[in-house]
Amino acid sequence: MNKNNQNNLCEASEASVVSEANELPLTHEELMKNFWTLYTTWDNSMRSMGNQCPRKLYWWLRGYSWKTSAKPIYFLFGSAWHEIKQEYYLSFKTQPELNHAARSINAFNAGKKYWDENENIQDIEAKPNPVDNIHNLNKLWTTFINYYGEEPLAFEIIAKPELGWLWSISQDTTETPLFLGGSIDAFIKHKTFGTIVLEEKSTSAYLTDKYMQQWEYATQLTGYAWMLNQLEHKPIILLQAAHKRVLGPTAKTPQFATCLVEKTPEQLEEFENEWRNFFDSINLILKNNFWPASGKTDPRQCVGGFGFSTCPYRGLCSNSARLQVDPLNFPGIGVREKWTPWYRLGEQIGNTKEKAKGE
Ligand code: SF4
Repeated sequence: MNKNNQNNLCEASEASVVSEANELPLTHEELMKNFWTLYTTWDNSMRSMGNQCPRKLYWWLRGYSWKTSAKPIYFLFGSAWHEIKQEYYLSFKTQPELNHAARSINAFNAGKKYWDENENIQDIEAKPNPVDNIHNLNKLWTTFINYYGEEPLAFEIIAKPELGWLWSISQDTTETPLFLGGSIDAFIKHKTFGTIVLEEKSTSAYLTDKYMQQWEYATQLTGYAWMLNQLEHKPIILLQAAHKRVLGPTAKTPQFATCLVEKTPEQLEEFENEWRNFFDSINLILKNNFWPASGKTDPRQCVGGFGFSTCPYRGLCSNSARLQVDPLNFPGIGVREKWTPWYRLGEQIGNTKEKAKGE
């Protein structure tokens, strides 16, 4: 692996901070002229959007998205579930004297606090939901606690949960350094594997073999493995999944499931090459001044359909004067919030190797 281009992250991202914090929305000319200084840091969501539809990425990079910043209710459920799990695991370190019952109650209370503080951000159009509500959250947690009992943990959390990460990637596409970033649920010290990443998923999907196998292919997790490898840890992610609806005794799939996702050096090299290809493809778009509307190859991406949400830019997309009109005149479109998950909670993995290792 080429590590020649790895820089201390304090040097990394002034350009991206400036663009994300102060400059949105951008005009077409501003974006195209300053592209690689405006966007020096890239994450899996940005690449995923660009791979699905470069034109969708274009509007997003200019700073437009849905008008409301409200999060759907299922995000709230997932975040609150995550809060509960984090509090529970962290308490083994911060409050070792607690008994199992007190630890479990404290953990749920942390999630309930999060729910109460954030309930107002749920989508105002959301209908009452039999799964994504605080009562079901409580039920699921009770099920989890009963399921695992007082089983000793195989790991401890070694750094503050929800950490942003940022690391430079060697590439020839731009003269300016580019960075990959993201945020992880937690950094843990596993009894067998040492320092690895913990990823929590809560889902309405059944935890079938296929559901669990998909994570082997997820570039989101490969990115975490890549980051771990930069820090000279084993490139392993421990994924814990929970099916949100509490199942009955005759259920054919588990309520909870766990898997380890590990990457080989070859897979990590391939991951880097895919990113370099992606940057090259953006450069070609910039050179040709043409952002393909590739979402139309599967128009469910445009109008919404099973597994797809409606594209906020669909009105703009087919408008031949789209580069001259003000996107804010289109229904539902607003200026998005800055997107810097790699600065989550102000913490960064990779800021220094010592910090990342929890020292
Ligand atoms: S409407 Fe479809 S083609 Fe147009 S930007 Fe959205 S996803 Fe892409």
